[in-house]
Amino acid sequence: MNKITDLKGGFTLHNGVKMPYFGLGVFQSKDGEEVINSVKWALEAGYRHIDTASVYGNEEGVGTGIRESRVPREEIFLVSKVWNTEQGYDETMKAFENSLKRLNTDYLDLYLVHWPVRGKYKETWKALETLYKENRVRAIGVSNFLRHHLEDLLEDASIIPMVNQMEFHPYLVQQELLDYCNAKGIQYEAWSPLMQGRIFDLEIINNMAQRYNKSIANIVLRWDLQKGVVTIPKSVKKERIVSNANVFDFELSDKDMDILNNLDKKKRFGPHPRAFDFPPFITKIWNYYQRRRS
Ligand code: NDP
Repeated sequence: MNKITDLKGGFTLHNGVKMPYFGLGVFQSKDGEEVINSVKWALEAGYRHIDTASVYGNEEGVGTGIRESRVPREEIFLVSKVWNTEQGYDETMKAFENSLKRLNTDYLDLYLVHWPVRGKYKETWKALETLYKENRVRAIGVSNFLRHHLEDLLEDASIIPMVNQMEFHPYLVQQELLDYCNAKGIQYEAWSPLMQGRIFDLEIINNMAQRYNKSIANIVLRWDLQKGVVTIPKSVKKERIVSNANVFDFELSDKDMDILNNLDKKKRFGPHPRAFDFPPFITKIWNYYQRRRS
């Protein structure tokens, strides 16, 4: 097991870049005050990794939060993703520049292909390879890529993705995919690690939390780290952002790791990577409401 130390610790990607293993997710955090505050609270609490995406509609707020935190940019591992309707070589190059502008930065630490859009993701990957070779981004990766997507991508890729960000929690472990990524040197990363809030209903984890004198979130997030998986829980509440990160002063026993591993039900709370379908008009409507909410 990698040594797990504190919020500034990380796993080393196959190109040697250190990726902090614990970050803040900001999906559904409203642009403006909400996301600005959550980013600032996280950085103040010691987080050094923020995960956003162009489709979240909050990159400007993330950039403002980073700036207002006064934490030097180079201490922060900043991640964004190219959205489905932005895929293709030229489109991705443009999308990247737009994300940088909104985030008010001149580089990203990690840029991800958000979903494996059929007929597009290979061209998108070429653009990410160019950005990487031009030193515009410190690492490149994918998200929601199953094994067959990765195998297909690797047929033409000149760079192996450094990261695969997947839905991952006790109800969806996908151990075979995790093993495959580990074997290829692709860092596995969990999205919706708290099952979008539903984890808190699981009595078995509640009992474990009481035994360790920890919160349910702490148990599950510690399980991620002990499995070698990067985790990015989302919250917009200061006390949760702070308490979720209290995972560095205890260790789950092998027996409890197994109990959590065995809760797997192959259950998804997000779309399936083989059957996702976000038609362009859905994205437009989604973005429209995101802007109105802020
Ligand atoms: P999470 O599993 O992180 O759960 C977030 C939910 O849990 C929110 O409703 C939050 O509410 C609540 N919550 C957080 N902490 C606590 C706590 N201690 N007690 C009670 N409730 C809590 O869901 P996400 O889907 O947001 O996943 C995390 C991140 O992963 C995203 O933010 C995004 O960055 C990334 N992601 C990537 C995807 C991809 O396709 N690549 C897809 C989905 C997510 P509140 O905010 O009110 O505290």
